[in-house]
Amino acid sequence: MSKTKIIATIGPASFDEAILNKMAHSGLSAVRINTAHIEPGYITKVSNMIDKINNDCKTNIGIMVDLKGPELRTGVFNNNIFNVVTGNKYTISDDNNSKSDIFINHKIRDYVDNNTVIAINDGKIRFRVNKIDNNIETTALDTGEIHSTSRVNIPGKYIKLGTLTDRDKLFLDEGLKNNVNFYALSFVQKAENVNELQDYIYDKNGNGEIISKIETKSGYDNIESIVQASDYIMVARGDLGVELPLKEVVMAQKKIIITSHKYAVPTIVATQMLESMVNSDSPTRAEVSDVTNAIIDDADALMLSEETAIGKYPVNAVSYLNDISNFVESQDVKFSEPENFIMDKIAFSVAKGVRTMAESINVDSIIAFTKSGYTARIISAIRPNKDIYAIVTSDWLSKSINLLKGVVPVKIQEKFLNNIYDLINELSSLNFLKSGQKTIFVSGFPSLYSGGANDIRIITIGKFIGRGYSIGKNVSGKVDIDTPGNGNIIIVDNYNKNFDYSKYDAVIVKSNITNRIIDDFIEKNKTIVYNAEISGDIKDGEEINIDSDTGIITLL
Ligand code: PGA
Ligand code: MN
Repeated sequence: MSKTKIIATIGPASFDEAILNKMAHSGLSAVRINTAHIEPGYITKVSNMIDKINNDCKTNIGIMVDLKGPELRTGVFNNNIFNVVTGNKYTISDDNNSKSDIFINHKIRDYVDNNTVIAINDGKIRFRVNKIDNNIETTALDTGEIHSTSRVNIPGKYIKLGTLTDRDKLFLDEGLKNNVNFYALSFVQKAENVNELQDYIYDKNGNGEIISKIETKSGYDNIESIVQASDYIMVARGDLGVELPLKEVVMAQKKIIITSHKYAVPTIVATQMLESMVNSDSPTRAEVSDVTNAIIDDADALMLSEETAIGKYPVNAVSYLNDISNFVESQDVKFSEPENFIMDKIAFSVAKGVRTMAESINVDSIIAFTKSGYTARIISAIRPNKDIYAIVTSDWLSKSINLLKGVVPVKIQEKFLNNIYDLINELSSLNFLKSGQKTIFVSGFPSLYSGGANDIRIITIGKFIGRGYSIGKNVSGKVDIDTPGNGNIIIVDNYNKNFDYSKYDAVIVKSNITNRIIDDFIEKNKTIVYNAEISGDIKDGEEINIDSDTGIITLL
């Protein structure tokens, strides 16, 4: 699975157990429910199905409820489609009582004048206002179709609409009842909008990460303060591309990601990533280029919309994102670390330490124990060059941290946290780490409390049987104790100068040795561990591993 996470919008094309199952196996990390197009009860249905998928596929797929806020949308058309032809005249109404071609759900007449452009369907179908009467009379500037409840933009206008509608609250409550992980808030214009949603969730004793969708000029202008109030930032390019001149959107994406990353706030790049795949089984070169660019920009996650909601190839779309990400991540792209953690100097230095260690020590992975998700978040944000296994004890958290770049959630029972050896044994038994592998273990200490990372250890996986000073390379194999047998490693109390050790790849000596002996081993390219303390648990003929960097000896 790629380090970059994949979100798919669920809809008629993907609300199906078999399809979701395949998407889960293709690298899906979360599903988005777009509340613009659903009825009450839908979130519960999706939640039940995702529970089943997570259970069957051993995945940690979370659910994002995308709240629309008081956005502008069209009404419902006959047969759900309305055809528009360039140059033809159309009437638009903004109250339910007057008859018109197109109904828009807010009093937009307060914001439009003659010649104002009203853009529908991601800006694809535009109308110029001719006259404002009972209805708004317009001329179409484009040809195409509009679907029921399509998004409407009036580019560049700051439209005062508040934060949450009654409809949003209905779906929020359903989300809270189902304990979903993420709430995306559309058209965030200032930090105050985010705080309002946070208050709502708090007052209901709920839990949820807030994703601020940056999709207006004012949201973009206020990015610095919005980032600091948010758990995630989404570059919502559909509407942003209508609100800003199109040529500015690519640079806006970079600026939004850089600003978020500065505060260790993860980012999602959304909309039209693989749009041609709504109808085609493979993407265009331009789309692959766009996806590649988003990964190089260092987004944590990429989001599919219509591709998986109504497209013909929802599974392929997920596989393509996974495949492109895997390739780009295999290239030598350098990612920057956050400039500052305003709040937490200790966690920031710990994270920097982890990055330095991951680069300079020969470790296989990073294990981050996280109680609140915060340690996973900062270790991900520091962008180390190794996989991050994030150990959690809560099911909810395993899904919540699954949108952080490079983080693989691992659920364990709380009882294993009382003792580091119990924890290592349990992690070894889960089989994602092999005995003898070395990892950087980062956590908060004491481990059962929240409060940020303050502890880093280098840990060798496997049952610990001893340690000493080691020279040479890592060796594993069968052990002879005291007397020669058919092993390739021997453990002795004292080094015997008259004995021929040449059949052994490694010699473990419980006492001290001389420089000459060390030089001899170096010259012969063999491993020697000296001043070793060995526990009584090891028996003649057992398989062991010597991690020569740390001198730690484990049972294989
Ligand atoms: P939407 O948001 O799909 O809810 O409109 C994403 C975007 O505007 O890009
Ligand atoms: Mn949008």
